[in-house]
Amino acid sequence: MTSQDAVRRLHLGLIRGASLLVPVRRRSDWWQEWRTELWYVLRECSPKASDNPGSILEATAFCLGAYQDAIWLRRRSWQESRIPARIRGSASVCLLLLIGMFFPAWGIAHFSSRVAAATSRIQVYPWRPSDHRAPCDCAFDLAADGPPLRTAQLFFDGFSHYAITHETVRAEAMPGTEWTVAHARSDFFAALHLPLRLLGPAARGSDKLPRLVLSDETWRRHFGGSADITGTKVRVGSVDAIVAGVAFGSSMGLPRNPNAWLLGSDREAGTDDGEFVVGRLSPVGYFDEGRWTLSAGGILLAFLLAPFAVHISTGDYSNRERKPALWRRSEFWAFLIAKITVLVGFAYFASLDLGCLFVKPSSPASAYIEIASSFAFCLLGLSWAFSDQQRRCPFCLRRMAHPVAVGRPSRTFLAWNGTEMVCESGHALLHVPEISTSWFSGQRWVCLDASWRFMFTPREGTGPL
Ligand SMILES: [Zn+2]
Repeated sequence: MTSQDAVRRLHLGLIRGASLLVPVRRRSDWWQEWRTELWYVLRECSPKASDNPGSILEATAFCLGAYQDAIWLRRRSWQESRIPARIRGSASVCLLLLIGMFFPAWGIAHFSSRVAAATSRIQVYPWRPSDHRAPCDCAFDLAADGPPLRTAQLFFDGFSHYAITHETVRAEAMPGTEWTVAHARSDFFAALHLPLRLLGPAARGSDKLPRLVLSDETWRRHFGGSADITGTKVRVGSVDAIVAGVAFGSSMGLPRNPNAWLLGSDREAGTDDGEFVVGRLSPVGYFDEGRWTLSAGGILLAFLLAPFAVHISTGDYSNRERKPALWRRSEFWAFLIAKITVLVGFAYFASLDLGCLFVKPSSPASAYIEIASSFAFCLLGLSWAFSDQQRRCPFCLRRMAHPVAVGRPSRTFLAWNGTEMVCESGHALLHVPEISTSWFSGQRWVCLDASWRFMFTPREGTGPL
């Protein structure tokens, strides 16, 4: 086999590879087309010496160019087959996709115990033994720490306190294990309205032994998630206790993440492992200091800056007498408001998820991430919502199609230079100038009357308006 044959086989192989990317029903046509064109390319480049390096490079460039055509054909085929004309660019599909994006963010915020704990009304403050020798009534202690008592009563409707120790815990079915145990008053969960489950008779204090409330994780890891755990006797350090229930939800985000809460033990307060005052925000307090204010603040900031960062104009009409009816224009604006509403909801819940799932919710970084992400999501969402709206037909709300560049930059001030688009149902044309000028500053709609409609063949699934 001569070198000329080898090069020819190489070129044919490249074209064959490109033809494999073309949809099956058009593959043989394109294979024949490219073979013929390759023959012409070789003849034009070097009619007498097809093994000339220049002609070989030229022919190779042609073969590689065939891949671009093949990829375009494949992509177009996917668009035609996967997205029926009825839903391509449709406003309702756009809204459904946005709602589909919103629900996962909402679901994580509602079903993640970590996010639930961060967004609950529970607030935790470190206890300072140097200021308070004997923890007693937490409301007074907290009030002495900062806000006046009247403010504390307005902002909180329940207080309690707990101290952390590390104890060896034994049970009948469990060998001695080192746990982080929170010592608290017997009304700890009731005062703070913290959720408990698997409540048995022990929870109601029918037994004189101190009660032990397990964390959800400890219950699953050490007791296999058994539903019969209530009433089980457990030895915590030197104290016998009885399991009263399992804590979940907002109890899971408390500092030091205790394995269990020992309620009503006679242990003396004061520990080096940490003590905390826990308050439950009243509705007034939650409105003022709740976690929601971080995301809401970021979103509000995005709305304030949007007029300076987002192009919010949706264009003008070239003929004011021929523009959509009032109810059509109301529909156009209602669609924009619906998109922005869903995007704001997404920005709110997605920023909560980001701020709580990837860093400790009580850390300053969590707050910064939540504010920054809500601001970024909202601003990007507003930018997308307006740019999408600018490309929607004001009659049927479908995306304008078939953009065509018309004119040349050098003729910007003498003639038209920009992009033109058309509604596939024949309602309107859209003119977008390449450069804003004094006589054509923004995009402009040209509404077509019914006499134009015969030029637009109704596509499958797209009936007349
Ligand atoms: Zn239309």
